Order: sequence, then C-alpha cells, then structure tokens
Amino acid sequence: MAQSPEKPITLWSAYKRFLWVWIWPHRGKFITAVVLAMVVAIATGAFAKVTQQIVIALTEPEQAAFPLAWAPAVIILLAVVRSFATYAKQILINAAITGAAQQMQIDLYKKFLWADMATLQDEASASSAARFNNDVNIATGSAQVVFRGYSMMTIILSTLAFMVSINWQLTLAFVAVLSLAVGPILQIGKRMRRLSSRNQAQVGVVTAGVAEGLTSIRLIRTYGLEDRALDDASEDFAKLRKLKLKQVDATARIIPITELLGGVAVAALLTVIVIFLNEDENIIADFVGLLAGMGLIAPQSQRLGKIYTKMQQGVAAMARVYAVLDEEAEIVSKPGAEPLVATRGEVVFDGVSFAYPDGTLALDSVSFTVSTGQTVAFVGRSGAGKSTVFNLIPRLYDATQGRVLIDGQDVRDVTIESLREGLSLVSQDSVLLSGTLADNIRFGRPGADDAQVIAAAQAASADAFITAQPEGYATKITPEAHGLSGGQRQRMSIARAMLRDAPILLLDEPTSALDAEAEAAVRASLDRLTEGKTTLVIAHRLATILSADQIMVMDAGKIVERGTHTELLALGGIYAGLFKLQFEDAQASAL
Ligand code: ADP
Repeated sequence: MAQSPEKPITLWSAYKRFLWVWIWPHRGKFITAVVLAMVVAIATGAFAKVTQQIVIALTEPEQAAFPLAWAPAVIILLAVVRSFATYAKQILINAAITGAAQQMQIDLYKKFLWADMATLQDEASASSAARFNNDVNIATGSAQVVFRGYSMMTIILSTLAFMVSINWQLTLAFVAVLSLAVGPILQIGKRMRRLSSRNQAQVGVVTAGVAEGLTSIRLIRTYGLEDRALDDASEDFAKLRKLKLKQVDATARIIPITELLGGVAVAALLTVIVIFLNEDENIIADFVGLLAGMGLIAPQSQRLGKIYTKMQQGVAAMARVYAVLDEEAEIVSKPGAEPLVATRGEVVFDGVSFAYPDGTLALDSVSFTVSTGQTVAFVGRSGAGKSTVFNLIPRLYDATQGRVLIDGQDVRDVTIESLREGLSLVSQDSVLLSGTLADNIRFGRPGADDAQVIAAAQAASADAFITAQPEGYATKITPEAHGLSGGQRQRMSIARAMLRDAPILLLDEPTSALDAEAEAAVRASLDRLTEGKTTLVIAHRLATILSADQIMVMDAGKIVERGTHTELLALGGIYAGLFKLQFEDAQASAL
C-alpha cells in the first residue's frame, strides 16, 4: 500500500478547502451571516459617532446631527439592530458549520467503509470513533473561531472608520501609539508557540517516565530502586514546571504592555487635544467619541490573539481529516473491467505470495486448485495463513505476487462488485448487523422477496427459531444479538449465504465448539448449503475435515501437505500430528 506523500498544509489552504468543500453547499446561510456580521459591526462602531453627536448636542446644539431628545431613540435603534443581527448571524453561521461538520463525518465514514483493508490497518488509531469525531469537532470548531475572528475584525475596522470620521488626526495619534504594541505582542506570540511545543514534548517525557516506572515496578521494588526512579521523575517534573512558569511569564507580559500603551494612547490624545483646542470647538465631543470607540475596540483586540492559536489547532485537525480523505483506495475495479463470469466456480491460486503492510509474510508461493463443486478444507495452526487465503479471494487484499483466478479470470481483472457477488461468506465473527432478522438474511441478496427469505431460513434450519421469536422475522436485533445462541447466529449466517446462492462458498468454521444438538442442526444446514458449490473451508470440526474432497495443510504461509484424510494420516507428517493432538478421541467416538 503506497502511502500518500506528506503534503505540507498551510493555514490558508486548509481553511480554503474547508470553505469550498463543506461550507459552500450552505453558502446562502454563510453569506448572509457574513453580511450580518458587517451590520453588527456598523451598528457597534456607530456608538462612537453617536456619543460624539450627543456631546455636540449638549454643547453646540445647532451643529449636532440630531437633537438631544432623539438620543435615546437612536441608541435604542442601534441596540435593536445590533442584537437582532447578532442573533440571526449566530443561528445562520452555526447552521452552516454544523452542516459542514455533518457532511465531513459522512465523507470520512464513507472513506473508511470503502478504504483498503491495509489502509484501515495503518490508520487503526485514526479510524477509531473517538479520533474521528474529535478531529471533525476541532476542525469545525476552529472554523467557528475564524468566523468569530472575522466578526471582531469587522467591528474593529468599522469602529476605526467611525473614529476617523469623528476626527482623523486624533484617530491617527491613537492608532500610532497602539501600533507600538503590535511588535512586542507578535514576539510574545512566537515565544508562546515555541514554549507550548516544548511543553507538550516535556509532558510526553513525564508521562513516558511515569509509565515506565509503573510497568517496571517489579524490577524497581525487587532491587530497591524506588529512590532512583523518584529522582529521575522529579527532575522531569521540575523541567515541566519551569516551562509552565515561562509560559505564564510570556502571557503575563501582554497585559502590562497593553495597559501601558492604553494609558500612553489616552495621553497622546490629550496632547493632540491641547494642540487643537483653540482651532476646533468640537474637540471635546471628538475626544469623548474616540474614547467610546477605544472602549469598543479594546475587548475585541484582546481576544483576537487567542484566535490565531485556535486556528493553528484547527489546521492540525484538518490536515488529519484531509489525509484520510485523500488516501486513494488501491483495490478498486480496473478501468474497463468486465464483470466476473462465474459459472463453474473453480478457484485457482497460482504461485501466490502475500505480505501484510507491516511486512508479515503470510503466504509464500501458494498454489492450489479447487475444482467445480469440490470442498477443500484448510487446516493448520493459528497464524499458518488460512484466513489470508480467504482475504485474497474477495480482494480484501491483493496478492503481492502470483495470481488468484476464478473460472480462469484473474480477480484483479474483473469488477469488484461482480467478484464479490460470486462469493458467499459464512464466517465466525460479526455475522449480524442491526436490523430485523429478515433484514439480516436479506443482506445476502437485497432484492429477495419474503418468500425467498423464508425459504433460505428453512433450508438453513433457522425458520423454527425465527418464528418462535416474539415478532418472528420482524424481530429487531443488535449486532451483539443477545437473544440468539451461537448455533442460531451461525444458522442466520448460513441462511444469508443460502439466499445469496453464489457458486463459491468461503466458510470459516467457528473454533468454539457447539453442544451436540446445535452442532447437528448447523451441520445439516451446512450440508445443504455446500451442495453443488465450490467450497473452501477453514476447518475446525472433525466432520468437515473427514468429508472434504481434499485437505490442504498449511504451515508458515505454505501448503505443506495435501490429500484426503486417509492419505494424510498414512503420510504421518504434520497433519497426522495435528490430528492426533486434536481429534483422535473425537474420531473414536464419531466413527
Ligand atoms: P490463520 O488464519 O491460519 O490463523 P492468518 O492468515 O490469519 O492465519 O495469518 C497468517 C500470518 O499473517 C500470521 O503470521 C499473522 O500474524 C499474520 N497476519 C494476519 N493478519 C494480519 C494483518 N492484518 N496484519 C499483519 N499481519 C497479519
């Protein structure tokens, strides 16, 4: 499985993709929210202007934009516009972003469902439900934060525009002083990011150290090394504390800088006022208006810094989500692949070798033929490669070397759907999905009608226990199927394969023994199922092995012996040994 190359992802490209792919389908809501944020910003910034006009109305009534008596109405109007626009904006942006989150979850889940098995294995941790939801939450949460940042920026810009309209010289003085803070604050931000990643690393060191101590606790106790372990850990704890204090120090520096410069800004304004006092009779009104503007800007700009950090976290989560989405499945139908024509159901392995992505060589030049209608039993120790043979036939994995042929067609040359339609699987694990009992049989052939489902259940000796359920075929079950016994679950799985009626049957027998009665019921339905089908069976039951046309004995990825039971016993090799170990007593009683 080729890994997709690590693509560097920038903040901009991460959010751009999020916007186009997931937000754009909700563009009506999104754009309205963007416009409403501007309305909020204008209604907010206008307070500065209104404050100035109120002071003018108090001091120079003839120059005011509105009479003093209107002031309450104007203020209420602004407040009303602001609150309604804020409310609508919040609702709309959340509708758009939760819509995006929902679609992102669908896209990811889809990716997992269709991904190569090898990829799923690589990303075992990434695909865990917790991680899956967590990344989507962080990514969409940070999109929300970006929108909040945008809202704040619009408020800052709109307020500044109103301040300029009040008095541009004073505004300039104010902005000039505050811009002095930008450099140091950016510097501190950089330092905080560095400290934060060192802090993370140190947390890792501390956790690993403690974990090591606890896993080696026997050694530590036996040799009396407790003090040494404590000393080592204490050093790590101390380092962590130092880093934390440095972080606190960096954060704490921001407050005095902004406080100091805030004071300097007011002082600068006062200086400019003194200079212009005689020339501009409304200078006091301007000053008050600008103070109001500063009051509006200050809380916004303080929160702006945090947004950048959140945005960075969002990029990391988005990068993980995109990496999963961009993984191309390799096991797909070839372009122009024809459907499988499986009339005989002959299965051939031709010099097949296979290694799992982690390098484990599971099959080593395996060749065999299962002729039409034959039953071949695969036996061997756990880890011998039996399940791997089964994995390669439906192309859950592709052979590393050699070919797997069905009726002379390489499984890689036919469409995947037709290949899998040609196979039925009766396996020991996870045989049921949530739904009704009838649904669970119908998965075998989705178009089947009720009569066919019932016929399949009857043939699998499942009809009797299904009709005995409170709601018969309509009884709802969960994957755990607490109401069904092991034997009943197997017969459900057999009924499904009956309905599917594919020419090739892959049968993975359960290792756990059933009681004699359940065993007999399962046996009988299996016999009906395998009739006339080419059957490959990972065999654990003696009866299955004895009745197989051929037995393949596997060991360490190779077929080491093959033949009928009698032939293999006579050979006195691995099979004879295995047989002695597992079945001699059982055979004595079976014969
Ligand atoms: P069997 O079915 O005979 O018990 P398998 O086909 O499951 O044997 O395993 C064959 C070898 O491949 C074993 O060494 C096993 O550890 C390894 N193996 C099986 N599945 C995987 C996997 N998904 N990833 C890596 N190695 C695997």
